[in-house]
Amino acid sequence: MKCSICKEKAVIELNYLKKAFCKEHFIDSFEERVKKHVEKNKLVDKNDKIVVGVSGGKDSLTMLYLLNKWYPGQVSALTVDEGIKNYREHTIKIVEKFVKEWGINYKKLSFKEGIGFSLDEICKKLEGIPCSYCGVFRRYLLNKGAREMKATKIAIGHNLDDEAQSIMMNLFQHGLQRFVRMGPLSGVVDNEKFIRRIKPLREITEKETRAYFFIKKFPHDIWECPYMQFAFRHNIRKMLNDYEKDNSGTKANIVKSYDSFIKKFKKTKYNIVFCEKCKEPTSSNICRACIIKEEFYERTRNKGKTKN
Ligand code: SF4
Repeated sequence: MKCSICKEKAVIELNYLKKAFCKEHFIDSFEERVKKHVEKNKLVDKNDKIVVGVSGGKDSLTMLYLLNKWYPGQVSALTVDEGIKNYREHTIKIVEKFVKEWGINYKKLSFKEGIGFSLDEICKKLEGIPCSYCGVFRRYLLNKGAREMKATKIAIGHNLDDEAQSIMMNLFQHGLQRFVRMGPLSGVVDNEKFIRRIKPLREITEKETRAYFFIKKFPHDIWECPYMQFAFRHNIRKMLNDYEKDNSGTKANIVKSYDSFIKKFKKTKYNIVFCEKCKEPTSSNICRACIIKEEFYERTRNKGKTKN
């Protein structure tokens, strides 16, 4: 297998692009494609203050590195510690080392301090799927934390695989509101309490981010979230990976089809309201975070009564 550009030995073959690259040309192509995506979709403005949501995984660290390289002085990092024992404490160490090395302004928030309980505690009390609680509170705290950091955009590390999975998940679950809010710049309303999200890696596959990450010798984590097995996304990922094996380009085609289809819907204005309890932006009278909190405390109160 030879590099499509210099004909030297290739280190990666990208079937969906019908190309192969040596190390040097892969790095160039990767960065060029991410930059082009950011510019084409006007994801970053010269006055933007970007807060990158960093988990310590390859996608978020790669994105943090690139945005900080291209937009120095405009980028900060924010980690949300969900409180997942034997997992998050390790990845946080990686983030702390990374931001120190690159001199990036950094803030950390936790479920425990921001919500009142950790994800581990929620999972002991409520029977739902851990990822659904995790997603609600992580989005909630990311938005709140980024606003406190005076951000105009939140960057999240969704790659092409993640985006294809999200499209399918929303279709399977009839999540039409979420479905129309997706895209490179997600959210459909401009509101000072709601910080819009950008996805710089949206046209790059997971395989490529992994390769970029290792070639760059960034510190990598070996830990996997213990709740991963319960995630609906996990099943969709397996399904799409299997399909992609025999039908290269499937994930890219899902995202392309979504983009063509959604163009006209993006013109629709959606009303944003504020939660009657916490005053954070939401799409209903009481936000999902407050509903889960109430459920959690209700269980705690009932458990106390049984004991007495
Ligand atoms: Fe949260 Fe689920 Fe991801 Fe674990 S796998 S960090 S529970 S969303």
